[in-house]
Amino acid sequence: MSEIALSVEGLDLYYGDAQALSGVSLDVPASGVTAIVGANGAGKSSLIRTIAGIERPRAGRITWRGREIQGRPSHEICNLGIGQVAEGRQIFPTMSVLENLEVGGHLPRARRAKAETLAEVLTLFPRLAERRGQAAGSLSGGEQQMLAIGRCLMGRPELIMFDEPSLGLSPALVLEMFRIIERLNRERDLTVILVEQNVAASLELAERAYVLETGRIVTSGSGRELMTDERVRAAYLGV
Ligand code: ATP
Repeated sequence: MSEIALSVEGLDLYYGDAQALSGVSLDVPASGVTAIVGANGAGKSSLIRTIAGIERPRAGRITWRGREIQGRPSHEICNLGIGQVAEGRQIFPTMSVLENLEVGGHLPRARRAKAETLAEVLTLFPRLAERRGQAAGSLSGGEQQMLAIGRCLMGRPELIMFDEPSLGLSPALVLEMFRIIERLNRERDLTVILVEQNVAASLELAERAYVLETGRIVTSGSGRELMTDERVRAAYLGV
């Protein structure tokens, strides 16, 4: 059994009176990829946002490397090594590529090693190095996604949560995105939580996977197990 880096127990989240997460529990193995699968509106982004400290749960516990973190502010959670690449990229369009990356390096945990991390990120994404002085808003969709990942890496996270990283990308770039996530996981020992509409590809990478339906976990297993699960195949793999 792998060591568990992050565990979520009995998480309830409400938006006003509307319950978005109901008793969600899951374990994220250290150095592994954990996939969260579910239809639109199932609560995948809400789960990521709650772990990231952007939403406050009404009940439940989130434990990161033995420490309870639920309800803590997002900057504190980032500084504990949990990074997030939000849906829709959310880069700063009028700032340059370099300035966007520097924003990610301001976290106290990352400040001292900023120059070294920047060099690593620019090596990982040569396109960003070529365009470092350019306004981020003028990058292509794929480059903007790389920038969002690069900015997150500047905070030296140990866990990265990706929310639909391949949304809006061409098929070739979708493949590249998966390759990058796989490399980050394998070569840099990053723990990954992955929410992806490309369910088959995300299950293939996943050591563990969870299916979320209307705010509840309904199935879990290894990625391989879920790939052969009849309900998952019918609902998410179109077979
Ligand atoms: P998608 O793939 O469409 O992003 P999702 O699985 O990530 O879906 P969430 O975005 O987490 O789902 O949404 C879960 C539920 O919570 C939905 O019913 C959604 O309408 C609702 N919801 C999400 N954000 C808010 C908010 N800020 N205020 C009110 N309701 C919200």
